[in-house]
Amino acid sequence: MALMAGIIYALASLFLGICAGLSAPRNLPANEVTLLDSRSVQGDLAWVASPTEGGWEEVSIMDEKNSPIRTYQVCNVMEPNQNNWLRTHWIRRGAAQRIYIEIKFTLRDCNSLPGVIGTCKETFNLYYLESDSDNERYTHESRFTKIDTVAADESFTQVDIGDRIMKLNTEIRDVGVLSRAGFYLAFQDVGACIALVSVHVFYKKCPLAVRNLAQFPDTVTGADMSSLVEVRGSCVNQSEEQEVPKMYCGADGEWLVPIGNCLCNPGYEERNEQCQVCKVGFYRSLSSDGGCRKCPLHSYSMKEGATSCDCDKGYYRSETDPAAMPCTPPSTVMMVQSKDITRHTLSLFWDKPEKPNGVILEYEVKYYEKDQNERSYRIVKTTSRSTDITDLTPLTSYVFHVRARTAAGYGEFSAPFEFSTNTVAAPVVGGVVSSAVLLLLVAGCVVVLLLILIITFIITKRRSKYSKTKQAEEKNLQPGVRIYVDPYTYEDPNQAIREFAKEINTSCIKIEKVIGIGEFGEVCSGRLKLPGKREICVAIKTLKAGFTEQQRLDFLSEASVIGQFDHPNIIHLEGVVTKCKPVMIITEYMENGSLDMFLRKNDGRFTVIQLVGILRGIASGMKYLSDMSYVHRDLAARNILVNSNLVCKVSDFGMSRVLEDEPEGAYTTRGGKIPIRWTAPEAITYRKFTSASDVWSYGIVMWEVMSYGERPYWDMSNQDVIKAIEEGYRLPPPMECPLALHQLMLECWMRERADRPKFSQIVNMLDKLIRNPATLKRTAGDASRPHPSTLHHAPSEGSAPSLGSVDDWLKIIGLEQYRENFSTAGFCSLESVLPMSHEDLAKMGISCSAHQRKILSSAQELLSGMHHRQDTKVPV
Ligand code: AMP
Repeated sequence: MALMAGIIYALASLFLGICAGLSAPRNLPANEVTLLDSRSVQGDLAWVASPTEGGWEEVSIMDEKNSPIRTYQVCNVMEPNQNNWLRTHWIRRGAAQRIYIEIKFTLRDCNSLPGVIGTCKETFNLYYLESDSDNERYTHESRFTKIDTVAADESFTQVDIGDRIMKLNTEIRDVGVLSRAGFYLAFQDVGACIALVSVHVFYKKCPLAVRNLAQFPDTVTGADMSSLVEVRGSCVNQSEEQEVPKMYCGADGEWLVPIGNCLCNPGYEERNEQCQVCKVGFYRSLSSDGGCRKCPLHSYSMKEGATSCDCDKGYYRSETDPAAMPCTPPSTVMMVQSKDITRHTLSLFWDKPEKPNGVILEYEVKYYEKDQNERSYRIVKTTSRSTDITDLTPLTSYVFHVRARTAAGYGEFSAPFEFSTNTVAAPVVGGVVSSAVLLLLVAGCVVVLLLILIITFIITKRRSKYSKTKQAEEKNLQPGVRIYVDPYTYEDPNQAIREFAKEINTSCIKIEKVIGIGEFGEVCSGRLKLPGKREICVAIKTLKAGFTEQQRLDFLSEASVIGQFDHPNIIHLEGVVTKCKPVMIITEYMENGSLDMFLRKNDGRFTVIQLVGILRGIASGMKYLSDMSYVHRDLAARNILVNSNLVCKVSDFGMSRVLEDEPEGAYTTRGGKIPIRWTAPEAITYRKFTSASDVWSYGIVMWEVMSYGERPYWDMSNQDVIKAIEEGYRLPPPMECPLALHQLMLECWMRERADRPKFSQIVNMLDKLIRNPATLKRTAGDASRPHPSTLHHAPSEGSAPSLGSVDDWLKIIGLEQYRENFSTAGFCSLESVLPMSHEDLAKMGISCSAHQRKILSSAQELLSGMHHRQDTKVPV
């Protein structure tokens, strides 16, 4: 009993010290709404303890500002079977759907209390009970629902008290979906020595915000941790909707993905998220204009909020002139005449104005088709008194006006003059076309027309030949094989986007959840319902606000790349949204996310055949890409997506990622970022990226898959990895990995890229393995998870003996067509193969030098593998 009293005394004194330093309420973030804060309660908390005696006890202490704080403490560490309950009073739920409970507490570690083994505990339990009113205060504990068992965790604040260190823990738990008007919380102690220093219950909201001139109200977050609440915004004062403004309120109280916008009315401009009136002397005429502008020369505005400026006395602006045009004094251009009229061109000339208002700086010719709206005019400027008008439509009447500009601004436009491109009749007003000229023109036109036809024919033929076959010719591909087109080779990359990606209307898209963060913005899941098609789940990549034009093109380039592919193992593009903000890329939805995470989550759960199926899918997608001459450069499990049927699809075709945004990217000596662990040596050293370097990366993906998402080369540094590869070391077989698969990995990691298998061969090999599952039985034995210090000199230690016959070995290195050559030449055992030379192979009828190299390097590696086996492990 004396010991017990001592413990409680020690505990109480510790609490005082702790609270004095740490209990002050924190400033509440704008996205939290408090439902209960024990630190701000005046007077007793008066929560219900049971048993009423000997269990939880309310203790008042002072914080550093000498304000009282209520705490609850219990410390029955010496008595078995403790069951002490403490319930809060009824807490009104308000608008909350999910509540957060932040508990600050101290907990004595049982080792520091003598004689309590077996009875002392280091956790407590947190419960809740929903009810519509405060009438269940004394209801039986069994009706409460457990939220969690709470233990002191690693993150705590240390407080020095005398010669002891005490830890103030902060734990947050959350619970939803709440539906009743309120709830109680309860703390169950089962024999620990605890002080609840404070309990803070709150919910989250997205606070009132203004985006794109639309105001979004305070919005309580959804009940689910991943749900998004769609909110419609309303335009701020003096603005109007351009496109329906919407935003999503995320579970953590952050606004996401603003869509649509409002624009300030004419006479107002956007400043500090508001529409502010244009000052006197300024104007803004259209809501689509930028900010308020100073009145143009010789004009003024007397009131705030002007939509245009009036001309000074004696100065004028024509009605059709835009508001930005300066006002000018009158001056007159005389008669305008035309000559040299053809089907598409004519020349205009005119006299100098009689009374120019200063030195004439230039003339402006305005013209439009007579039958069209005057608003769709074109302008030509010239310093001389004549100009050629080109690109006219044949047999069409045009109206022309000319005006002069001096230092004082533009004069009035001349009266309209009408000319027609009809070469036969030439019904011109004021025109001077002779019949001889006319004849010549007709003859000329016929010749020109013929020439144009011939040239167009030749160019079209050449062009189609060029665009279809240039790359194909170089690579000698069969007709019918499509070649990937790099969107950056387009003069205008927007053209590539239009060509390869379908524009989708935002009204067809419903965003539901944020599922990831991409390089350019959030990645969400949602639904797409295109007219006449069934609704499907999609992934929506968004481009965050404030992007530059280059970033927009980089972001969309991924769509121009994916849009060229059509294969079950390549992520499928549904389309893009480019016409309104945010810009989005819509692809099929892959329920199981990225392959690396998926494997880590499911460690050890798949059969070898399932894993080989995964590898086969990826190889098939890569074969398709290499057939199209596309080099991925960043093939890695993190860039493969998995759907609900375990189908794997190659993804991540962003153009900038290879150099800048690859999470694994490291700068090489030649600059530029490269994911070292996945990249072939020649690509690291001299940037030789080819389908063969993709094959190397594929070998690494095989290793990632067979090791369930282990990091290639574990915690070795990039530099060590490069060095080890250079010295001939390769990753060993992952635990329980069939040797045939590891052998294939080693093939993918051949130093000479010509010796690596092609993706088509890899697909065939995997198909064979799937058809003959017995070949997958042989593994590297019971080896435990490998470690860098066991990196193997290729081939791995374990692989050599299991190769068995020369036939098996040839099969594994993909050269089984030479079986006969070997047996006829009398090479029956592996040992006899090892000392062979190029000459030996040539004599046997193996003349292909790539095959010779492959056979000899594999034999060489077999030899060194045998030596290593004898000499034990090879250090890195
Ligand atoms: P990314 O910008 O492509 O790297 O995408 C970022 C993250 O979003 C990925 O790691 C995935 O977790 C997720 N993600 C991207 N695209 C999809 C998709 N089509 N289906 C499911 N999740 C995706």
